[in-house]
Amino acid sequence: MTTTVAVFGSCNMDLVAYTGIAPRRGETVLGREFRTAPGGKGANQAVAAARAGAPTRFIGAVGDDELGERLRAALTEYGVNTDGLRTVTGNSGTAHIVVDDDGGNAIVVVPGANASVDSLAPGDAELIAGCGALLLQLEIPFTGVESAAVAAGEAGVPVILTPAPAAELPAALLSNVDMLVPNEHEAAVLTGSADAREALRELLNLVPEVVITLGAAGSLYGNRAGEIVEVPAHPVRAVDTTAAGDTFVGVLAATRAAGGEIRQALERASAASALAVGRHGAMAAMPTDQEISEFRA
Ligand code: ATP
Repeated sequence: MTTTVAVFGSCNMDLVAYTGIAPRRGETVLGREFRTAPGGKGANQAVAAARAGAPTRFIGAVGDDELGERLRAALTEYGVNTDGLRTVTGNSGTAHIVVDDDGGNAIVVVPGANASVDSLAPGDAELIAGCGALLLQLEIPFTGVESAAVAAGEAGVPVILTPAPAAELPAALLSNVDMLVPNEHEAAVLTGSADAREALRELLNLVPEVVITLGAAGSLYGNRAGEIVEVPAHPVRAVDTTAAGDTFVGVLAATRAAGGEIRQALERASAASALAVGRHGAMAAMPTDQEISEFRA
């Protein structure tokens, strides 16, 4: 087992238009600004782990278009190994985002190449085996998520699943998941309970370890041995909470894979996500190992 973190999941290019008022159906409005930014939960978590100092590999797919080249280059630039990133015919995953002056947004996600990640490609099982953790999310087909979880289970690699977008989780997948990390909303969808402690108890019937992230209220950890750890969020001025959860999970995994205890992993994840919400952007906002260690709110 090494300290390497593997991520098997999605990557998208965010295409963001900023406008005074979002258009209604049939309407055209003039926007103010356009920006692109690499994202997708899988790629975000990989960058968070790599920035936090873990050797990190991303397994997924981009299209054979210009956006795919840019996504691959961005991951490489952020220090993520892309040996497991395949290029498939067609478009890369894209998220089409309209942000209005009230900060409200409307988003259309077109999965593109992410839809092709429905099974392991040759060599993927070898990329997963020997890692200190495998991170999974639900932005690629369930069959892909499941096959990666099975490969990790067979190799004895701990699996950490972010159940987002929220969906019912098949038992076959859960049997290979060691830790679930939902946010409050996802925990409520999975359990039917809006109370985090109650949701935690319910989720521990499904997997051995659970962390529920609670936004500015911090995070709540529990395991089947009955241990509970609560970690408050740092009181910071949030300017952009995009990918707070992905930063949290990436750093949690990086610390666990390096042999860190759960409290240390939660505290580093909390510091990293506080740093990230204080800056604009997703990947661009994620802190380095040193910034996390030196952070004092
Ligand atoms: P996102 O969908 O934006 O990626 P999320 O809903 O998955 O986020 P949250 O529960 O909102 O995840 O946040 C994850 C962690 O980030 C929290 O547990 C907390 O430690 C930190 N965090 C989030 N918002 C704030 C904030 N306003 N101030 C400080 N820390 C925050």
